[in-house]
Amino acid sequence: MPAIPRAKAERRDHRSIAEYHAHVYYDPATTRGRAERLRQRVAAEFPRAKLGRWHDELVGPHTQAMYQIAFPSGMLSSFVPWLMLNRDGLTILLHPETGDDYRDHTAHAAWFGAVLPLRVEVFQQHRAPE
Ligand code: ZN
Repeated sequence: MPAIPRAKAERRDHRSIAEYHAHVYYDPATTRGRAERLRQRVAAEFPRAKLGRWHDELVGPHTQAMYQIAFPSGMLSSFVPWLMLNRDGLTILLHPETGDDYRDHTAHAAWFGAVLPLRVEVFQQHRAPE
Protein backbone atom coordinates (compact mmCIF):
# COMPACT_ATOMS: atom_id res chain seq x y z
CA MET A 1 0.00 0.00 0.00
CA PRO A 2 1.49 3.39 -0.96
CA ALA A 3 2.31 5.76 1.81
CA ILE A 4 -0.18 8.57 2.27
CA PRO A 5 1.53 11.80 1.18
CA ARG A 6 2.08 14.26 3.96
CA ALA A 7 0.07 17.44 3.71
CA LYS A 8 2.25 20.49 3.20
CA ALA A 9 0.34 22.59 5.68
CA GLU A 10 1.19 21.68 9.22
CA ARG A 11 -1.69 20.05 11.04
CA ARG A 12 -2.11 20.55 14.70
CA ASP A 13 -4.27 18.53 17.01
CA HIS A 14 -6.52 20.78 19.05
CA ARG A 15 -6.73 18.08 21.70
CA SER A 16 -3.17 18.94 22.68
CA ILE A 17 -4.37 22.30 24.02
CA ALA A 18 -4.48 22.02 27.79
CA GLU A 19 -5.23 25.63 28.58
CA TYR A 20 -6.46 28.89 27.11
CA HIS A 21 -5.95 32.51 27.98
CA ALA A 22 -8.52 35.26 27.77
CA HIS A 23 -6.85 38.69 28.01
CA VAL A 24 -9.33 41.32 29.14
CA TYR A 25 -8.33 44.83 27.99
CA TYR A 26 -9.41 48.01 29.69
CA ASP A 27 -8.55 51.66 29.91
CA PRO A 28 -7.36 52.54 33.45
CA ALA A 29 -9.04 55.96 33.13
CA THR A 30 -12.42 54.90 31.76
CA THR A 31 -13.25 51.18 31.76
CA ARG A 32 -11.41 49.79 34.79
CA GLY A 33 -14.69 49.58 36.72
CA ARG A 34 -16.29 47.42 34.06
CA ALA A 35 -13.19 45.22 33.99
CA GLU A 36 -13.45 44.90 37.80
CA ARG A 37 -17.11 43.84 37.62
CA LEU A 38 -16.37 41.29 34.90
CA ARG A 39 -13.51 39.93 36.97
CA GLN A 40 -15.72 39.51 40.04
CA ARG A 41 -18.37 37.70 38.04
CA VAL A 42 -15.81 35.35 36.49
CA ALA A 43 -14.42 34.57 39.94
CA ALA A 44 -17.91 33.84 41.26
CA GLU A 45 -19.19 31.78 38.32
CA PHE A 46 -16.01 30.03 37.16
CA PRO A 47 -13.95 29.00 40.18
CA ARG A 48 -11.55 27.01 37.98
CA ALA A 49 -10.49 30.15 36.09
CA LYS A 50 -7.16 31.57 37.26
CA LEU A 51 -7.26 35.35 37.40
CA GLY A 52 -3.97 37.09 36.68
CA ARG A 53 -2.75 40.38 38.08
CA TRP A 54 -3.94 43.78 36.88
CA HIS A 55 -1.48 45.26 34.41
CA ASP A 56 -2.17 48.98 34.14
CA GLU A 57 1.37 49.21 32.78
CA LEU A 58 1.92 47.53 29.43
CA VAL A 59 3.48 44.06 29.55
CA GLY A 60 4.56 41.51 26.95
CA PRO A 61 2.98 41.97 23.52
CA HIS A 62 0.01 43.92 24.87
CA THR A 63 -0.58 47.53 23.83
CA GLN A 64 -3.36 48.24 26.33
CA ALA A 65 -3.80 47.65 30.05
CA MET A 66 -5.18 44.16 30.70
CA TYR A 67 -5.46 41.19 33.00
CA GLN A 68 -5.31 37.56 32.01
CA ILE A 69 -7.75 34.76 32.73
CA ALA A 70 -6.21 31.29 32.31
CA PHE A 71 -8.65 28.41 32.07
CA PRO A 72 -8.56 24.69 31.24
CA SER A 73 -9.84 23.36 27.90
CA GLY A 74 -12.76 21.71 29.65
CA MET A 75 -14.20 25.15 30.41
CA LEU A 76 -14.12 26.37 26.82
CA SER A 77 -17.67 25.47 25.83
CA SER A 78 -19.21 27.20 28.80
CA PHE A 79 -16.83 30.08 29.45
CA VAL A 80 -16.41 31.40 25.90
CA PRO A 81 -20.15 31.86 25.23
CA TRP A 82 -20.48 33.40 28.67
CA LEU A 83 -17.72 35.89 27.80
CA MET A 84 -19.37 36.69 24.45
CA LEU A 85 -22.56 37.67 26.24
CA ASN A 86 -21.04 39.30 29.31
CA ARG A 87 -17.89 41.14 28.19
CA ASP A 88 -19.70 44.47 28.67
CA GLY A 89 -18.07 46.15 25.68
CA LEU A 90 -14.53 45.22 26.74
CA THR A 91 -12.11 43.90 24.14
CA ILE A 92 -10.89 40.36 24.76
CA LEU A 93 -8.14 38.30 23.15
CA LEU A 94 -8.68 34.55 23.37
CA HIS A 95 -5.77 32.26 22.54
CA PRO A 96 -4.70 28.66 23.12
CA GLU A 97 -1.48 27.72 24.86
CA THR A 98 0.36 25.41 22.46
CA GLY A 99 3.90 26.41 23.40
CA ASP A 100 4.26 28.63 20.32
CA ASP A 101 3.63 32.09 21.75
CA TYR A 102 3.94 33.86 18.43
CA ARG A 103 1.33 31.77 16.63
CA ASP A 104 -0.90 31.56 19.69
CA HIS A 105 -1.19 35.35 19.73
CA THR A 106 -1.53 35.72 15.91
CA ALA A 107 -2.71 32.84 13.71
CA HIS A 108 -4.37 30.96 16.58
CA ALA A 109 -6.04 33.94 18.25
CA ALA A 110 -9.67 35.08 18.38
CA TRP A 111 -10.68 38.63 19.29
CA PHE A 112 -13.94 39.85 20.76
CA GLY A 113 -14.93 43.47 20.28
CA ALA A 114 -11.90 44.74 18.36
CA VAL A 115 -8.53 43.64 17.08
CA LEU A 116 -5.76 45.47 18.91
CA PRO A 117 -2.19 45.73 17.69
CA LEU A 118 0.28 43.48 19.48
CA ARG A 119 4.03 43.91 19.85
CA VAL A 120 4.76 40.45 18.43
CA GLU A 121 8.47 41.23 18.20
CA VAL A 122 8.66 40.34 21.91
CA PHE A 123 8.29 36.66 20.97
CA GLN A 124 11.52 34.81 20.30
CA GLN A 125 10.20 32.82 17.36
CA HIS A 126 9.10 35.76 15.32
CA ARG A 127 7.64 34.31 12.14
CA ALA A 128 5.41 35.58 9.39
CA PRO A 129 1.69 34.94 10.03
CA GLU A 130 0.22 32.03 8.06
ZN1 ZN B 1 -1.84 34.85 27.06
